Amino acid sequence: MTYPDTKETLQLLKELVSIPSPSGNTNEVITFVENFFKELNVGTRRNRKGALIATLPGKDEKNHRMLTAHVDTLGAIVKEIKSSGRLKLDLIGGFKYNSIEGEYCEIETSAGKKFTGTILMHQTSVHVYKDAGKAERNQDNMEIRLDEKVHNAEDVRALGIEVGDFISFDPRVQLTPSGFIKSRHLDDKASVAILLQLIKQVKTENIELPYTTHFLISNNEEIGYGGNSNIPPETVEYLAVDMGAMGDGQSTDEYTVSICVKDASGPYHYELRKRLVQLAKENDIGYKLDVYPFYGSDASAAIRAGHDIVHGLVGPGIDSSHAFERTHQDSIENTAKLLYHYVQSEMLL
Ligand SMILES: [Zn+2]
Repeated sequence: MTYPDTKETLQLLKELVSIPSPSGNTNEVITFVENFFKELNVGTRRNRKGALIATLPGKDEKNHRMLTAHVDTLGAIVKEIKSSGRLKLDLIGGFKYNSIEGEYCEIETSAGKKFTGTILMHQTSVHVYKDAGKAERNQDNMEIRLDEKVHNAEDVRALGIEVGDFISFDPRVQLTPSGFIKSRHLDDKASVAILLQLIKQVKTENIELPYTTHFLISNNEEIGYGGNSNIPPETVEYLAVDMGAMGDGQSTDEYTVSICVKDASGPYHYELRKRLVQLAKENDIGYKLDVYPFYGSDASAAIRAGHDIVHGLVGPGIDSSHAFERTHQDSIENTAKLLYHYVQSEMLL
């Protein structure tokens, strides 16, 4: 038995985080994933929301299994063009302004033109502003400095920039010799990379899956409704693969796969959780059970939308989530191993 190649997964992850994809503007990254599947001869379809569903037929065609990971990320949108020629932002997804202070960004106009800039406090220069350190990091005080010769709103509009243009943050991805991956958007592109590699292995090694298995590459998770639709009625189990949350009191780390027992939406399905633990134990996979206090997943979104499914949540541990994220290749590897065994395991029918 060989597992999906982690080095290859990391290269794929690097490519994925480098494609801007804030929720609401994910066509480019979905097309990238679509082409990945095309090369493997895996059939896909897009839903109206713009997500991608890939299906691998299995032995049992009556009872299906579904796995999901989301390719959309945090981002922002141009809220206002200031008279100074700076841009005011409105955030997409759940995070704080301090986590993007000083970050390089890209603005994409509706015509597809791209411009770069930096997200800064208006009162940044300590040579000018006394309260530079104390002023609140909020929508009023933070703005984008465009890398263009603009002096007023008219100059900005002349470039083609308008209210509603999407803003993405520079991921600044780095793979360190010690095995860490530092980047924005590891949530949840780390999991997407793992799923794509898993599908590649299943296809290239002609592994027969016990059940027809769907893979939903969701594109609206960060705003709450990515994976709550397009679930085939035959679906029995629905596993969200999304980041494990780290912090004080959390057991999740950057080296194991995190199995979520409960998040803000309530407990995940008890029997499925126990079976995931059993699979980890049987196959020597490093895992942690954990509770995520302020968290909801595409699996809980599906339950809320009224789907009668067995739902679960697992994923790599991500430090400083929704900010300057980091994980280790060990966590990617343990998550990949668990999923490799999971898709070949029996369901409790
Ligand atoms: Zn996520």
